[in-house]
Amino acid sequence: ALDIGRDLGTAILNVRAFEREHRLVKELQALDQYKGQLIATVAHELKNPLTSIVGYLEMLEAEDVNAGVQQALSAMDRGARRMVRVIDDLLLLSKVGDPSNPVIPRPVDLSTVARDVVDLTSLAAGKRDLTVDVVAPAYPVLANGDPDELDRLLSNLVSNAVKYTEPGRAVTVALAREGDEVVVECRDEGFGISEADQEKLFTEFFRSTNPVAVAQPGTGLGLAIVARIVERHGGRIELDSALGRGSTFRVRLPAADPAS
Ligand code: ADP
Repeated sequence: ALDIGRDLGTAILNVRAFEREHRLVKELQALDQYKGQLIATVAHELKNPLTSIVGYLEMLEAEDVNAGVQQALSAMDRGARRMVRVIDDLLLLSKVGDPSNPVIPRPVDLSTVARDVVDLTSLAAGKRDLTVDVVAPAYPVLANGDPDELDRLLSNLVSNAVKYTEPGRAVTVALAREGDEVVVECRDEGFGISEADQEKLFTEFFRSTNPVAVAQPGTGLGLAIVARIVERHGGRIELDSALGRGSTFRVRLPAADPAS
């Protein structure tokens, strides 16, 4: 009887510990949701006035003004455009991080998405004297997901590969179906990422301390967006990288059946 009493006592303590943990998880989730709403509200509030600033700056730049004023206007224009990029990324980040707004999946051919993304990146790649190729099988590589988000996922990876690779090298986007998954790899022969940086890579606003990487423009939000898109699609992301030896970002997503 004593043993039963002790077991019961332990069981009650375990239940209480479980309840406490459950409450904590709920509180953290609520805080996270609040953070997301706060970011979205602030970004929305900043977006409208900023859009009008960019519009007026363009108007003023078209005026016949002296060189000093022109220089000031163009610096303001660059700054304002950078702010627009950060705000747009924050709005997207809060959208893809919002659990009340889940993906409505449909079959998306990733080979087509990859080719479109590579076409759009070709100007930036050409400027850095890089080749960007898509290696895709003859069959369609169908993921189950949101086409705009999957486009954004690939374009963030490819534009990073282009930004963080020395001129003259190659970037490859390779696709395949493996069982009930589709796999997309974005490989570069670029700067590579140190082990210390790899741990923080997918957090908001993280930018590497590598001086050649920091010299490239960026917000530090691209990979945070990538991670959330992959997560809400039920996928996984893997990274093989070593400093000075390039990086491979590998994304696995649930496949869609051609018939579905
Ligand atoms: P951003 O490119 O705007 O800085 P990201 O979130 O896309 O933001 O990337 C975060 C950081 O990770 C970058 O600043 C860069 O240092 C590093 N990084 C991302 N992709 C690569 C890559 N392919 N090769 C080397 N470094 C990379």
